[in-house]
Amino acid sequence: MKCKNLHKYKRVNIGRKDTFHVFQCIECPHYLRPEVFVGKSARCIYCDSEFKIQPLHKKLVRIHCLDCTKSKNTKEEAALQDLLTKLKV
Ligand SMILES: [Zn+2]
Ligand SMILES: [Zn+2]
Repeated sequence: MKCKNLHKYKRVNIGRKDTFHVFQCIECPHYLRPEVFVGKSARCIYCDSEFKIQPLHKKLVRIHCLDCTKSKNTKEEAALQDLLTKLKV
């Protein structure tokens, strides 16, 4: 199965200690490495709208647009931020 249009990404760890991750589409086998992730277009995992991937999206687990960043999962993202700070990512 391949996406017709743009992909919806989630961040997956493929390293042993969460040290290496890629951004994988939730609907097909496509994925992007972090170094080429920013600047690509994607579909929001929550609202389905198209958006351009920004550096800040690398910190998210479920890659979503800025509108959804404001309204949803602030708690989850805050926890993630906390973790990332500890890991010095
Ligand atoms: Zn896809
Ligand atoms: Zn959205």
